[in-house]
Amino acid sequence: VKVWVDRLIRDGVVARSRLFECDSDGRVISDDIADPPSDALKLGIAVPGFANAHSHAFHRALRGRTHTSGTFWTWREAMYRAARRLTPQNYRRLAAAVFEEMLAAGWTTVGEFHYVHHDVDGAHYGDHDMERALADAALEVGIRLVILDTCYLTGGIGQRLSPEQRRFGDGSASRWLDRWFSLKAALEDAGSAITLGAAVHSVRAVPADDLRTIADELPAEVPLHVHLSEQPAENEQSILAYGKSPTRVLSDAGLLAPRLSVVHATHLTPDDIALLGDSGAYAVFCPSTEADLGDGIGPARELTDAGVSLSIGSDQNAVIDPWLELRGLESGERLRTRQRGRFTPAELMTIGASGYQALGMSRPLTPGGYLDLVEMSPLSERTAGTRWEEVAMTATAADVMRTVVGGQARSSEPSARAHRLRASIAEIWESDLV
Ligand SMILES: [Zn+2]
Repeated sequence: VKVWVDRLIRDGVVARSRLFECDSDGRVISDDIADPPSDALKLGIAVPGFANAHSHAFHRALRGRTHTSGTFWTWREAMYRAARRLTPQNYRRLAAAVFEEMLAAGWTTVGEFHYVHHDVDGAHYGDHDMERALADAALEVGIRLVILDTCYLTGGIGQRLSPEQRRFGDGSASRWLDRWFSLKAALEDAGSAITLGAAVHSVRAVPADDLRTIADELPAEVPLHVHLSEQPAENEQSILAYGKSPTRVLSDAGLLAPRLSVVHATHLTPDDIALLGDSGAYAVFCPSTEADLGDGIGPARELTDAGVSLSIGSDQNAVIDPWLELRGLESGERLRTRQRGRFTPAELMTIGASGYQALGMSRPLTPGGYLDLVEMSPLSERTAGTRWEEVAMTATAADVMRTVVGGQARSSEPSARAHRLRASIAEIWESDLV
């Protein structure tokens, strides 16, 4: 498959007339300057695909329905109500609608941090039904999916799972690992667009001994993600129980490594930042969610300067727009420090794609990386007058015309997408939505 791009915005410069070729798995095998051949898919202006390194697809059902009052913790109650209503069938339909919204916004890869594994009473489905629902949804709409199957054992440090959390749990790290290996085998025939990673929910939900088991027994090449210090309460509980910060707990359990991605990393000490920097870990910032939930603004520049690679995620999917996440990252830095240009537009675009590496893949458009691209409208009221090198500071998902995943173009109608989302969300709430 060949894809020709008239103008490719990459690494802070505009490259003209690039011709890419990929193999049957969608991996780049050549990248040259050439005139457009007749047998190529032709794009006008394009950027490398964005990786959504942190998503909970079903949280999309909460969008615009939680804003009248409350805190992070009352929002979580609403989220648990949605989680209770999921079945393999409605989860598949909702996830497909959400993945389609992501593709249309420019996310070409999604890492789904997935913890709704079992039936509401905790009984196991027969054949990884919830995980297959996600895989089937991704295959249907054509997004690249990494299932970050999540170990979730306790309701808080030293606390049993609550009834609402029962369907998340596997009982112990070793039983979670058994299910993980079984799922790995079950997904073997799903194709190159579906891969299996792993996650531990947080130090709140996985005891230190179980963290150690996972560090020892999860294969070393598997990407591992964890929520880290999103709220000050998590730090307080960790210090009370362990006498150390959540980052220190992960470090002492042997989890800090280049395969680790820490999600949010909002409330860190200088010691935490140094530990993460020395480990070669990734950090996944989710600016729209962190703003929505009132989490705070994490030390993005300090982490980068310490050696951590940043990437971005849409997390609760109250916003599905990689451009707004990138702008939110830089805006948070500017508001926090009262300085402009904390990240250059070129750095922001790099951050937008670095989720591929956080999810265990090569960067898109590099040798061995996927031929994943986002075609942009050449002119809109948002980007008119913009230097293309600075488009990270002006574009939105509304400027995305088509996405290309593994050399295959994907596009859909906005009204059809909205209808599908509304129908699948109405199904979750079992009501006609207003
Ligand atoms: Zn999350």
